[in-house]
Amino acid sequence: MRTRLAGRLFMKRKILLAILVLAVVSQIPFAFRRYRLRRLKNTIQQYASQRVVKFDATEYVDYKGVIHVHSFLGGHSTGSFSELIAAAKANQLDFVIMTEHPQAEFDTSAMTLNGSHAGVLFINGNEVATANGDRLLLIPGSSNAATMNTQSTQQIIDQQKATGGLAFDAYPSESTNWQSTNVDGVEVYNLFTNARSINRVVTFFDGLWSYGAYPDLMFGNFFARPTENITRWDQTIAGSNRKLVAIAGNDAHSNVGVSLNDSSGNQLIGIKLDPYERSFRTVRTHVLIKQGKPLTRESLIEALSLGHCYVSFDLFGDASGFYFGVKQSDRTTGDDVAFSSQPRFAVLTPLPGRAVLLQNGIAVDQKSGTSMEFSPDGVGAYRVEVYLDGLPSPATGKPWIISNPIYVR
Ligand SMILES: [Zn+2]
Repeated sequence: MRTRLAGRLFMKRKILLAILVLAVVSQIPFAFRRYRLRRLKNTIQQYASQRVVKFDATEYVDYKGVIHVHSFLGGHSTGSFSELIAAAKANQLDFVIMTEHPQAEFDTSAMTLNGSHAGVLFINGNEVATANGDRLLLIPGSSNAATMNTQSTQQIIDQQKATGGLAFDAYPSESTNWQSTNVDGVEVYNLFTNARSINRVVTFFDGLWSYGAYPDLMFGNFFARPTENITRWDQTIAGSNRKLVAIAGNDAHSNVGVSLNDSSGNQLIGIKLDPYERSFRTVRTHVLIKQGKPLTRESLIEALSLGHCYVSFDLFGDASGFYFGVKQSDRTTGDDVAFSSQPRFAVLTPLPGRAVLLQNGIAVDQKSGTSMEFSPDGVGAYRVEVYLDGLPSPATGKPWIISNPIYVR
């Protein structure tokens, strides 16, 4: 009797001990992932200390901002205007392009942030779903946005163009219809889509270990090059011999994350991956405007329409000062150049990086430094992706900058 009881107790202790050991062992990967983020943070700081910007090297001024932002007006976001303005200011953004979901009862583009607020230029856009299953970002928005779901993608684009506005395809991998329209460009990266790919269990434990110290850098754990979108973009340009401008979409709602609540709904642990301030720091679209020309609603829309812009993951390093252009000319991304003029490309980066030159989406050359030159060896759409090879995992091999193409005809 006694020995049986003792034996049972012994078994219970053994099981408890095994559970305890398992619990501790299961946390080792997350402790290691926290260590990786600390190492990444240190490397980002080292890179920042090597910053060189040759502001007079080009005829353009670099303005940084974010595109594809929602507020409480569109429904599934709770973000307020004051949070938005504070987040833009904290990031020293030059512009924010709002893309509100339409509402049947009121015009969300007329009601959202527009014009200059606290020194930041806002444009009042919309995001609409079309009858063909595409989703368009309208810059600026339209008072007819709420009824656009009954119209074709091309009809909506035509209306935008008739009023001097732009239409970009959002989520380009979800539909193929946009490829046969004359849309101005595509959102090659969407932060919301990327953030939604997280594994909630992993993110929960990552959060316990890393959220307190490295909330911004948790992005590094899930960030992936948007290869599918980029391939669609490259192939559409190559296949139709036309221009398509790439932008990044923050798709900021301030509502992605993991939380643990008690039975009465009080939040015990909350890990928010996309508050506006963090979203605006992570990925940005920079536009280039000619020196002497101020940043205005009109000059910003014009620069985007021309493709005078690039996408950068500024969390790894502020890319302001990046330039990809044709030497001895003012031609930059989005512009044409004749192959017969024997053009040479110049690439300037504010941090020492590795620039990969791609021709119609295929890597054809690469060089390292802060000032590189390339010679195209045929016609095609040439663009560069810049990598910071010194970044440790989880950022290893992920792009820092994705430029728009220069079109060699
Ligand atoms: Zn959206």
